Amino acid sequence: MKLFEYQAKAAFAERGIAVPERRLCDTADEAAAAAAELGCPCVVKSQVLAGGRGKAGLVRVVASVEEARAYAAELLTGTLGAAHGVRKLLVEAAVDFARELYLSITVDPEAATALVLACADGGVEIEELARMSPERIIRERVDIDVGLLPFQARNIAYALDLEPGQATGFAALLTGLWKTFRDEDAELVEINPLFVTESGTLVAGDGKLVVDDNAAFRQGGAVPSREYFDSDVAFEAALEGIPYLQFDGDISLMCAGAGLTTVVYDLVNYEGGTVANYLEFGGPNYRKAVRAMELCLMNSPKVILIVTFGTIARADVMAEGIAEAIAKLRPRCPIVACIRGTGEEKAVETLKAAGLQPLFDTEEAVGRAVALAAAPSRGTEPGGDSGGRP
Ligand code: GDP
Ligand code: MN
Repeated sequence: MKLFEYQAKAAFAERGIAVPERRLCDTADEAAAAAAELGCPCVVKSQVLAGGRGKAGLVRVVASVEEARAYAAELLTGTLGAAHGVRKLLVEAAVDFARELYLSITVDPEAATALVLACADGGVEIEELARMSPERIIRERVDIDVGLLPFQARNIAYALDLEPGQATGFAALLTGLWKTFRDEDAELVEINPLFVTESGTLVAGDGKLVVDDNAAFRQGGAVPSREYFDSDVAFEAALEGIPYLQFDGDISLMCAGAGLTTVVYDLVNYEGGTVANYLEFGGPNYRKAVRAMELCLMNSPKVILIVTFGTIARADVMAEGIAEAIAKLRPRCPIVACIRGTGEEKAVETLKAAGLQPLFDTEEAVGRAVALAAAPSRGTEPGGDSGGRP
């Protein structure tokens, strides 16, 4: 789960990393008050989960309280802010900096270690730099069990061209970042830019923190709330524990397993169709057909495409769930179902009784769904072409 900048900075500050003085604001008036309190110039920063805010015009250094108010209003109520889903702002004291560095810790899955990445040229062009001059990225692997060792921090500090006095401060900061990475079960902690001020101190100008979802159970604060999700449906799916991704196409996927769902997603695109949502209906969720279909229907799809291949998740149980969902929810769009696996004969009977025409081949099912989505919608009868419910 990605956290917002203000949350990442709170986690950094807790571990001794210097961050600018700041206020979290919900309204333009609050932003103006914060600017007055912190003094101008100050920085008004949209709190969104996507990166690249600087380039998108979602971060601005403002010179006066009135400019802070006007820009905050633009972000919270204007079209630019609405397009990026801006709900909160962070107003920060501006930092007078001499250099912008890049620093992060992530996971290196191939080496099964943590990986510190650093660069002497941080800031908004870092992706471009990594592409054009990858040799300028400093890499230091850190053994998870041993932890960050002092010589590693010093090596990175010197590779960043920091002066001996600054290297000590850098080592302390990197230790704090390492602690954040471990304590928060993070997949990524990132500071870009890491400001070196005129007086040579280090201040985190930005903060990213991505928590490993597998550790959510022991990260008490990680209860999902609406602001972390792209849509209401995505939020409701998360509360239900159903893996879900929001798209804006026509075909709702209700498939079993990440691999199969991803393959079906690709096949839909290959056949020229578009996906409304990715939803995994399988594994621990194979008894949740009613809820899963309800979530799909919230997207008003042109077609619901169900593809499963179940062994532990039994086909007959899934089919019963789908029949129950159809009876309860009376979907108006056609449903294409291809359910294979344990108890398949019974599943086929159940689906037929529910008015569907079960298919047995994934490509055929995808082709049928894409054709139905492309057909002019008659949109009255549930079941449609794929079933023609009785
Ligand atoms: P991102 O584009 O989403 O990564 O947002 P950042 O928080 O990194 O801000 C983008 C850019 O705004 C930074 O690279 C800085 O150049 C600039 N910026 C951010 N905070 C300050 C600040 O306190 N002072 C100054 N002068 N510039 C800042
Ligand atoms: Mn940044």
